[in-house]
Amino acid sequence: SGILYVVATPIGNLADFTQRAIETLKMVDVIAAEDTRNAYKLLQHFSIDKKCIAYHDHNETQQAQSLVKQLLAGANIGLISDAGTPLINDPGYRIVKACRQANIKVVPIPGACAIITALSAAGVATDQFFFGGFLPAKKQARQAAIAATAQTAATSVFYESTHRIVACLQDVQNVLGADKPVVIARELTKTFETFLSAPVSEILQIMADDANQLKGEFVVVLEGNSQQAEVDEKCIKLLKSLIEYMPL
Ligand code: SAM
Repeated sequence: SGILYVVATPIGNLADFTQRAIETLKMVDVIAAEDTRNAYKLLQHFSIDKKCIAYHDHNETQQAQSLVKQLLAGANIGLISDAGTPLINDPGYRIVKACRQANIKVVPIPGACAIITALSAAGVATDQFFFGGFLPAKKQARQAAIAATAQTAATSVFYESTHRIVACLQDVQNVLGADKPVVIARELTKTFETFLSAPVSEILQIMADDANQLKGEFVVVLEGNSQQAEVDEKCIKLLKSLIEYMPL
């Protein structure tokens, strides 16, 4: 059977498209794309002349079956999403799962991903991080998700849209306090790429003073709770000492 290639595309700067990604998409028989119009624009730029078929959250289960059939018949397929790494807060998971179940080879072609790009330059601890996708749209659920980040020593990362960035930061301020250290990574790899690293109240002030700071795409990075790390360490020490008294 053929191979499903899961191909990362740029998150803004087209020069981030890898050579291997371009070669792979030129080689496959067909490209499954989240949005065919966006895909054709990108592919045209790189002179990749391939037929695209659409998959998205609403037709993915159906499309998965049709793609599996084509793969079993020997076709090689490239899977791309609108930007960045497919499946990372993008559709594609059902297709990859169906391929794995049918014993079809799945090959990742890595590249840009907004979470990793933000973390690589945020200047916060990255040895452990929790990725929470998009925060919930409803206030109560969003506040609960933000409160949960205080329960871990790991850094927390969220995607956020221009419509909700202020509401999100206001909730961070209400739940975790005005001094909570936050990093906002905006428009990564694009012309207006900006990192804001400050207590959340200062970031809200910067945004209130400059409407440009509200434009574009955002990654929100919340520092982990270092006190939680101490608690964890204390717990581990205590548990280790208790093990000595356990009957074998
Ligand atoms: N699959 C993508 C990836 O690998 O990063 C993520 C797709 S998700 C539907 C889109 C969200 O990712 C945006 O709303 C934004 O939060 C984040 N994002 C994508 N590109 C970005 C960029 N250039 N700068 C900042 N955030 C970005």
